[in-house]
Amino acid sequence: MRRVLPFIANPEYAFTAPWLAALQAAMPQETLVALDDMSEAERAGCTVAIVANPRPEDLRRLPNLRWVHSVWAGVERLVADLADMKLQIVRLVDPQLADTMAEAVLAWTFYLHRDMPRYAAQQAAREWRAQDYVRAQDKTVSLLGLGALGEAAARRLLAAGFKVRGWSRTRKAIDGVQCHTGEDELGAMLAQTDILVCLLPLTPQTAGIVDTQVLAQLPAHASLINFARGAIVDDTALRAALERGALAHAVLDVFAVEPLPADSWHWAHPRVTVLPHISAPTDRSTASRIVAANLAAYRESGAIPPCVDAARGY
Ligand code: NAP
Repeated sequence: MRRVLPFIANPEYAFTAPWLAALQAAMPQETLVALDDMSEAERAGCTVAIVANPRPEDLRRLPNLRWVHSVWAGVERLVADLADMKLQIVRLVDPQLADTMAEAVLAWTFYLHRDMPRYAAQQAAREWRAQDYVRAQDKTVSLLGLGALGEAAARRLLAAGFKVRGWSRTRKAIDGVQCHTGEDELGAMLAQTDILVCLLPLTPQTAGIVDTQVLAQLPAHASLINFARGAIVDDTALRAALERGALAHAVLDVFAVEPLPADSWHWAHPRVTVLPHISAPTDRSTASRIVAANLAAYRESGAIPPCVDAARGY
């Protein structure tokens, strides 16, 4: 019997064929297949699958599955969907993805730092007015989350001259970055923040964590960038903070409901920049090489790469 490796995505996912091609190119020794192309015996012999937001019922068709390798970095949906399946989840950790995210954080930090939303509004009003210039080294960018993406963003921001702070569940040590942990230190960090960047995973602990209280601790001129997950920010609190002038601007790449519904308040809000979840797309070729290396190690030694901690949710 041939040994096959399934790639399982939601049937509506438009990029299954390109993923199959990229994964196959990175793993010539494997036979990549779609779930429906596997025989019953092949499904019974399968212990690992590569997944992109699969339907849980599809994974249940593989009775001896031990682990899944996601091609996404954010796996909150997989963690929730597979809670009763005792499956180990490996998420994508790709330096290219971290680099792409760091670039996006820098780009949109510059957008806020150089007052682009305000100059766009002034242009629309035919208003010729210079705002005060504040140097990057006099601005503090604070990161919620100092993981694979947050740390890469911190380094890029430092190199661009900003003061950088970061907050994580456990304390980090990153040269040049003032690292914080715990609720008290979060407050201290927020009070010193000009631009707050969210790069937390969505978990039961982080859902709605950017709430009225967190937003109230930011200086009124501060702005928010959310490149993580929409549900981490309390949308009602965000709108209220923007409307009472307690927050200058929000750059939002992620939303509780995506695609963002046409009647959503965010679209036309003068203090909101809407992006269609584009800050850091997975690169199929680098991701496939990383998945390939993890699979090769598993085939050789049975070792499963570091997995998502189900209790922590990330
Ligand atoms: P990661 O490596 O798991 O890092 C997560 C960071 O958040 C860690 O520093 C972690 O602290 C911290 N954290 C988690 N829970 C916390 C809590 N309750 N309180 C304080 N800190 C907490 O994740 P990543 O690879 O950097 O990715 C972050 C998220 O980015 C993903 O989960 C995904 O949702 C999102 N993402 C978005 C896009 C996009 O295009 N918009 C693309 C890729 C990923 P510790 O270090 O102490 O564990």
